[in-house]
Amino acid sequence: MRETVFIGFGSNVGDRVDFCDRAVTLLSLLPHSHVAGISLLYETEPVLDHAQPGDGWFLNGVVQLETDVTPKSLLDILREIERALGREEENRSGPRTIDLDILLYGQHIINEPDLVVPHPRMHQRRFVLMPLSELDPLFVHPLLQRTIGQLLAETGKQPEVRLLFPQPSTRYGSRPSCSPPPGL
Ligand code: ADP
Ligand code: MG
Repeated sequence: MRETVFIGFGSNVGDRVDFCDRAVTLLSLLPHSHVAGISLLYETEPVLDHAQPGDGWFLNGVVQLETDVTPKSLLDILREIERALGREEENRSGPRTIDLDILLYGQHIINEPDLVVPHPRMHQRRFVLMPLSELDPLFVHPLLQRTIGQLLAETGKQPEVRLLFPQPSTRYGSRPSCSPPPGL
């Protein structure tokens, strides 16, 4: 069954724009799926909660995917894309070329050893909530029963998240925009 899925992406090493761009392009090629929206890119101070990502600032964003792919298969595909873009398995919590997380899978609640959805830290992270609220501020978090917009309003202002300026043009393919271009 087709579901609305939000995938968070982040990169804090190397050519970050290129890694994000390539990840989004690969997601847009998935079968039984289409990319319904891509957020702008945000620059984020690294969060030192459970990982040691180094001191490089992250680029973060969110993709909205309409898909028939099951959560498990989608996780496998995300790992595959991470591998293809050079993320080191043996130092997963270190600096990352690309990190891909399933943030929300429709209204599904999943609690498995290798997959927890909604992503357990998404509601505290402004670098997730800001791009998400661009795509769908009224989407309801299935566990917290609050909208993305409400969750964003409840977060503190630290760590700093700012819109990347200027926004780069994409190098691979064209991106569907989440809102009609001006003048239409
Ligand atoms: P993080 O994204 O929290 O910094 P990792 O990218 O290293 O950490 O992810 C570690 C593991 O988290 C993955 O191998 C995956 O099995 C698991 N995981 C659990 N829930 C999710 C989810 N919703 N999206 C992506 N990975 C998840
Ligand atoms: Mg991850």
